[in-house]
Amino acid sequence: MPATSLDQVVSLCKRRGFIFPGSDIYGGLANTWDYGPLGVELKNKVKKHWWTTFVRKRIDMVGLDSAILMNRRVWEASGHVGSFNDPLVDCKDCNERFRGDKLLEEKLGVEAAAILTLDQVQPMLTSEKIACPNCGSCTWSPAKHFNLMFKTKQGVIEGEGDDIYMRPETAQGIFVNFKNVLNTMRPRLPFGIGQIGKAFRNEITPGNFTFRTREFEQMEIEYFVDPKEKKTLFDAWQQTVWDWYTGLGIAKERLRVREHEQDELSHYSSKTIDIEYQFPWGWGELFGLADRGNYDLSQHEQFSGEDLKYTDPDEPTNKFLPDVIEPSFGCDRTVLTFLLEAYTEEELPNGDVRTVMKFDKRIAPITIAVLPLSKKENLIAKAKEVYQLLLDETNLTVDFDVTGSIGKRYRRQDEIGTPLCITVDFGTLGEDKEQGEADTVTIRDRDSLEQKRVKISELREAIAQY
Ligand code: ATP
Repeated sequence: MPATSLDQVVSLCKRRGFIFPGSDIYGGLANTWDYGPLGVELKNKVKKHWWTTFVRKRIDMVGLDSAILMNRRVWEASGHVGSFNDPLVDCKDCNERFRGDKLLEEKLGVEAAAILTLDQVQPMLTSEKIACPNCGSCTWSPAKHFNLMFKTKQGVIEGEGDDIYMRPETAQGIFVNFKNVLNTMRPRLPFGIGQIGKAFRNEITPGNFTFRTREFEQMEIEYFVDPKEKKTLFDAWQQTVWDWYTGLGIAKERLRVREHEQDELSHYSSKTIDIEYQFPWGWGELFGLADRGNYDLSQHEQFSGEDLKYTDPDEPTNKFLPDVIEPSFGCDRTVLTFLLEAYTEEELPNGDVRTVMKFDKRIAPITIAVLPLSKKENLIAKAKEVYQLLLDETNLTVDFDVTGSIGKRYRRQDEIGTPLCITVDFGTLGEDKEQGEADTVTIRDRDSLEQKRVKISELREAIAQY
């Protein structure tokens, strides 16, 4: 059973060091979040798993890490300067600003709200009697376009710096490097370029914890294809991504595919599907798969004057701009989804209720915790040996935890989702046969709560079995 309310996860994240409110000691900065010691481990593992699956282990993929700040012409070519807008409405009573389409989603449904024209938003808010979430009044201004890109200045001399944008997506960094990758890696179609990085959008109504923030991370792929093969490859990507999420433990019944209506499509896309997750507040986009055609490459060709065509190696006279399929993952939303899905409250045989984060073992922030039974010096020394052994002989994330009673430490490790705990006791030291043989330890499994006694010399093999 996943989290039933967002608050359960928000509070666990703060209490256990996953995610903290940003700039906390200064009273915060609205909708900014900092990943704490466990959050950064979780996020790094998600990113690493993504990179391994989609870049390192695929012969048709290469990686990239492009700059956040780019020539402003990039954003003119991509259409972001002209059309990366949301419909902004003001409440005339309290002056709070909202995204008109989002206010209407509950009444009209996501699809219908997304296709409203700018002129339709205010009349619809009025006729549907949508109250201001801040003050409750229903006096809305006409909707106007609000560009979501953050601007900043480049250069040190006031007034002389050019206005430039913080990238609102990582995708354009890939398109502007298309030629560099072609020339250096000589890939054959179909092939893709993957990148993980920060993106910035001046969202009108951020919220729901890390679901919608103004600074977030994306994991994006631009997959270049021969237009003839596009349909099959689009479907294959949809399945691959579905399998990635479900393979890491997201239940199929809380995922769905939603295809965008014709009027909802972005200016560059002829087909887009979202994979949505059933968040505690309703269905929300987790991942987007778009057919971008050759829109971006042809725009950049036109704006930069560079030839960005691909030459068919089997037929060198056949030069063309490939079409692009874009699988785009929100990294923070993906992490949030894993947190919500992992959250479990369950009753133990003795009637106690425990909270346990049932993360897939590959993404759990800590894989193994080594716990000396008590704070006795020789016990701690032996436990440290086991800890060091695991650090030296495995690639796993290992924690050493001595604070509090053993019961409390098990509870903490359950709450942070550690799949295995290894307890070092007086049996290990050869001082108490009842606890176990000398040089053996107890392995406790997070999910089954099963405990097994294992020789330290066979620990690696035992761990591998889990
Ligand atoms: P939405 O409709 O939720 O605004 P979008 O359709 O604009 O999202 P895309 O441009 O397709 O999103 O971006 C790809 C992915 O990036 C999304 O599927 C989502 O996971 C993530 N994402 C987009 N905007 C944000 C944001 N403000 N905060 C966190 N993640 C985001």
